[in-house]
Amino acid sequence: MKRRGSVYLLGAPGVGKGTQADLLAKQYGMSPFSTGDMLRQARKENTDLGKKAAVYMEKGQLVPDELIIGLVEQKLSKTENQGGFIFDGFPRTLLQAQALDDLLLKKKEPKLKVAFIELSIETLRERLLGRLFCPNCQKTYHVKNYPPRREGFCDSCNKPLIVREDDRPETVERRLVAYFDQTAPLIDYYKKTGNLKVVNGLGTVEQVLNALIIALELEG
Ligand code: AMP
Repeated sequence: MKRRGSVYLLGAPGVGKGTQADLLAKQYGMSPFSTGDMLRQARKENTDLGKKAAVYMEKGQLVPDELIIGLVEQKLSKTENQGGFIFDGFPRTLLQAQALDDLLLKKKEPKLKVAFIELSIETLRERLLGRLFCPNCQKTYHVKNYPPRREGFCDSCNKPLIVREDDRPETVERRLVAYFDQTAPLIDYYKKTGNLKVVNGLGTVEQVLNALIIALELEG
């Protein structure tokens, strides 16, 4: 398999990062790397990390940097990266972004390519409030924009879909505030390092996917 660098999908919750990460991973043999999925798994297994993270996740707040950076260091050191990672939901703070740059440098990985998926706050709200989630295989759907083939059931594993607890209205608002306060400053951080591409998130899943492929120069 061709060795390629990693990419990072930057954007607010609800912008479609998880869906796009899955599609890019399938198309290009890359490895999705979602700290949100890892934390949900840790909660399911009731590990120490899972218990600590639950307190923040339930409130729609970010889990502290030291927990996240520790988790990422551990996962990256264990995972083979022949096809490149697709980072989704990490980094979310400046400290995390700096930690990732250091880790990639240490592993002698190529420079991270970053795509910022842009969407208005009204559309973000609408997307988050219509979201459905498969607790078994972690796939995300949307009642209107990306419905499962059979209503209420996952296309991949056929298990019943749920509304994630952090997709409830009051938690959605807190997650959006956390994004604008703590993650949006990363747009400037990556602009300064010269590797940020902006992609319009308002379109069909296929349109956004094609825009990402072009922005991240994944073809060829
Ligand atoms: P996500 O599925 O990426 O939206 O993540 C769900 C929740 O997990 C977030 O609302 C945070 O509480 C937590 N979380 C996931 N990734 C991170 C991260 N990189 N830094 C801090 N908290 C995170």
